[in-house]
Amino acid sequence: MAYRVAVLAGDGIGPEVMEEALKVLDRISSKFGVDFEYREALVGGAAIDAVGDAFPEETKQVCDWADAILFGAVGGPKWESLPPEKQPERAALLPIRKRYELFANLRPALVFPALIESSPLKREILGDGGFDVLVVRELTGGIYFGQPKGIFEENGVKKGIDTLVYYDWEIERIAKVAFDAAMKREKRVASVDKANVLTSMVLWRQVVEEVAKSYPEVELRHLYVDNAAMQLIRDPHQFDVILAGNMFGDILSDEAAMLTGSIGMLPSASLGESKGLYEPVHGSAPDIAGQGIANPCAMILSAAMMLRYSFDLPEAADAVERSVEQALDEGFRTADLYRGKPGEVKVSTKQMGDVIAERI
Ligand code: NAD
Repeated sequence: MAYRVAVLAGDGIGPEVMEEALKVLDRISSKFGVDFEYREALVGGAAIDAVGDAFPEETKQVCDWADAILFGAVGGPKWESLPPEKQPERAALLPIRKRYELFANLRPALVFPALIESSPLKREILGDGGFDVLVVRELTGGIYFGQPKGIFEENGVKKGIDTLVYYDWEIERIAKVAFDAAMKREKRVASVDKANVLTSMVLWRQVVEEVAKSYPEVELRHLYVDNAAMQLIRDPHQFDVILAGNMFGDILSDEAAMLTGSIGMLPSASLGESKGLYEPVHGSAPDIAGQGIANPCAMILSAAMMLRYSFDLPEAADAVERSVEQALDEGFRTADLYRGKPGEVKVSTKQMGDVIAERI
């Protein structure tokens, strides 16, 4: 049986980093005796140029067919003058999330030991081992989508409204994703809320407590979001999996990402009941596109997440992650990571892909 992968490279550096991820997957295929069937499709600005639509019908069919979607990046200056709803990011990513109800966003914030100096945190906080936090964010509910929403006028006074609403089943399913992920890691979940002032978060806490009963091995703690934001900077090691609603998760995942200091290293996964979307956190980086210098690690680590979460191939995922770590330990650096220190070797996108693939 072949695992079916939709390959949506997109714009800018998307195709460059995608090529390296596929190179690594090919290596996994031969080393682990698993087969991948790839279908490429247009998305984002490239699709707008070709057929006038950022997420065309043909691409939808390819995604429907696939077990998992590998996504590069979309957007760039060429399409910035389009109306907001036609912009590549909005017109491609949001419909994909909606079509497959990708309700869980997983963002690991991981500092590899070799890259500790990229982190803005002091060495005495980081220690020698880096850190590894996974933020699990609810992606399709909460205050970003709750109704009513809008600016309303009453008796000459305007008011802006957003509604924070969570249903018990929404909390339950995202909590399960977090606990399942914790079972594959260090078995610790920190659930973030604001139950001291928000009623919806009182329910959040109750449902998370309920779900926790099915995971007796996992240690659960609750933090208010303001405290969580502080604790992440004070000592990121105290966290394994952070579980949060849409808005709090949005903010905390960016904070955690910033603590790693290198956008070219950060993968992500968005999971639904039946499909997953895997993409680097970074965008299409138009400033360096076409130069062959982009860091492919975020894309390659996104492919590793696909192996882990969509295909349940943890050994293969580990092998990819270990190879990335080994390449860094041996001093290989793309331009964004290169500091000119002794032992560092500056490499192109392709060379980095080769080095990582060879180490699997
Ligand atoms: P960006 O992430 O593309 O780039 C920010 C900076 O980081 C740039 O200097 C870039 O060169 C650098 N960078 C990013 N990824 C890198 C990598 N792999 N290797 C080396 N350096 C890397 O963000 P931006 O500049 O704000 O956005 C550029 C375009 O990408 C915009 O059109 C934006 O809308 C789009 N975007 C798309 C996505 C997505 O597809 N999911 C996400 C964010 C931004």
